[in-house]
Amino acid sequence: MNKQTTEHPSNDNTDSASPTFADIYQSSIHDREQFWAKQAERIYWHKQPEQILDDSNLPFAKWFVGGETNLCYNCVDRHLPERAEQDAFIWLSSEINQELTETFTGITDAFKELDNNVEFYTDYTKRRLTYNALYKEVNYFADVLQRRGVGKGDRVIIYMPMILEAAYAMLACARIGAIHSVVFGGFAAHNLAIRMDDAEAKMVITVDAGLRGGKVINYKNLVNQGVEQATNKPETVLVVNRGILPFKAQTIDVDYATERRQSCDANAVVEPVWLESNEPSYLLYTSGTTGTPKGVQRDVGGHAVALTTSMDYVYNGKAGETFWAISDIGWAVGHSYTIYAPLLAGMTSVMYEGLPHRPNPGIWWRIVEANKVNILFTAPTGVRMLKKQDETWMTRYDVSSLKTFFLAGEPLDESTANWLTKYLGVPILDHYWQTETGWPILSNTPKFDHKAHKQGSPGYPMYGYEAHVLNEETGEPCAAGEKGLLAIKAPLPPGCLTTVWRNDERFMSSYFKLFDNKQYSTSDYAVMDEEGYFYILGRTDDVINVAGHRLGTQEIEEAISTHPEMAECAVVGIKDELKGELPIAFCVLRDHAQVADTENRFRLEQQIIGAVVKSLGGIARPAAVYFPQALPKTRSGKILRRAIRALAENQPTGDMSTLDNPTAIDAVKQSMKDY
Ligand code: ATP
Ligand code: MG
Repeated sequence: MNKQTTEHPSNDNTDSASPTFADIYQSSIHDREQFWAKQAERIYWHKQPEQILDDSNLPFAKWFVGGETNLCYNCVDRHLPERAEQDAFIWLSSEINQELTETFTGITDAFKELDNNVEFYTDYTKRRLTYNALYKEVNYFADVLQRRGVGKGDRVIIYMPMILEAAYAMLACARIGAIHSVVFGGFAAHNLAIRMDDAEAKMVITVDAGLRGGKVINYKNLVNQGVEQATNKPETVLVVNRGILPFKAQTIDVDYATERRQSCDANAVVEPVWLESNEPSYLLYTSGTTGTPKGVQRDVGGHAVALTTSMDYVYNGKAGETFWAISDIGWAVGHSYTIYAPLLAGMTSVMYEGLPHRPNPGIWWRIVEANKVNILFTAPTGVRMLKKQDETWMTRYDVSSLKTFFLAGEPLDESTANWLTKYLGVPILDHYWQTETGWPILSNTPKFDHKAHKQGSPGYPMYGYEAHVLNEETGEPCAAGEKGLLAIKAPLPPGCLTTVWRNDERFMSSYFKLFDNKQYSTSDYAVMDEEGYFYILGRTDDVINVAGHRLGTQEIEEAISTHPEMAECAVVGIKDELKGELPIAFCVLRDHAQVADTENRFRLEQQIIGAVVKSLGGIARPAAVYFPQALPKTRSGKILRRAIRALAENQPTGDMSTLDNPTAIDAVKQSMKDY
């Protein structure tokens, strides 16, 4: 036990009967098995585990060995006695509104075929689904899958937008023990084909089309192309026809509505398949910010226990409350906190198809008001988008139902956090995790702590994670204030990846090699303060070396973000003969027109350089400051610094097919020409 992991913020909770977070943390590390055995009681086990942890083959850890359970049963069936009539999901789409459905009657017909519980408004469409209705739909869906030959262990690719049928598909797979792999709906055919091959998918589930910002995305055609490119062809493509875009059926296509009607007429009920805790539940590929995506494999029992516990201990969410994770189901946040965790906890989950600023920048708050959302979770990128809009939208709705707003995925800069606090008046909590872990590594814990969180820190290690900052070379723990690599001592707690799909070797070499198979490396730099709060300093890929000084580009970005006219920025290092590398800054202003005037641009440049020098010293001075209108981002909203660096050095950018905003590449190029 080293010094770092024992020091955690105490809390001011004076009620001696209830444990403090420090108590919880300590027992999770020192009485690991008892702690998790207790948490395992939160879910239903068809057969109780025989062994809580098998750590005989680290870094591979097995949790709840011999236990048998089912994720879908725990998400759905288990709640029927108490919450059959409570909403399990509230689905909202700002892409589909009254006007659209009046013009395209096919959409209304498709809704009628699948579900009558639809409300059309001028600015959005809403579907509510009780736990009872979810139970029925998931059983029909599971019945369809079984009829089409999908069973335990088969892989199913789900390539769908944010619609309820995607949730049924995931839960139905979990019910019958099929392994789902959701592929983000914006990825091109090529990305789809790679995943079809890697997972050797038996079935692909998709839709005719999706809508993004009013633009039609031809899912069906992308799937056709993906199937064509794939070496391993799926046997069936199950199509949920939304009535948006007519398509020509292929020989392997199956119409979901037709199949569902058959299951519905038969009142189909499919018994859950009981799975050993360590069998795979799903595969999810990482965002690919730093390289080729890794197929993260999750288990069944550990996943269910970890997510249920996190909803209580981390998010302080309670059964009956409403949780809204504004994320796509193609990402880890969507898996864990749109689908699984809220349902495991008996909450109502909001599922949203749409953008943050359409039909207007008040849409999030309108949804919060109309549905009494209690806990929000999103990535900073969406908030920054709102920050660029007319701020009066922030005050038009009653958001008093909100308790907390969690953010993760990218560093949360101080100005964005302050801006949100000003309007919402609830704790804005940064927290940190990875696709690999599936739930937070570092967070604040509003359930236990009445202390203010610290600006710039995503918090302290969560129970179960023996997280600490290690010296990269020696592997020794760093002292408070000393920078190092954020690592987690093996075994990883329940819910984290158990391996990389069919690639144990990559699991070990990507995550455990650096510290002799004893520590999981996050590949992020961090520093811990005297009170045990951690600060993320950026990815190991994003460190630059200026005349022998190692600088995290994120630190420079933080200094720049303090400028009041800044919307967002990225700093990258470019090669320099004299100094090795030099930082250059790409700054997106809240009002781009500001740089049209040369004198004004000069003023901004000087202020930005001044802010960096003031906070980090002359060594960090950006060699150039450019003002593009946008920055290239991954589909999960992460700034793609490796692409910006390539552009700045006039190198090929590599595979950009997973980019969210391809035009940003030109914007970055243009900004360098403007100079
Ligand atoms: P790949 O691993 O394929 O390169 P990725 O790392 O972008 O993709 P994710 O698992 O979605 O894929 O992202 C996790 C990473 O996001 C973390 O390792 C960290 O770099 C960053 N991150 C997440 N939350 C925070 C946060 N609160 N503050 C700072 N960085 C964060
Ligand atoms: Mg990563």
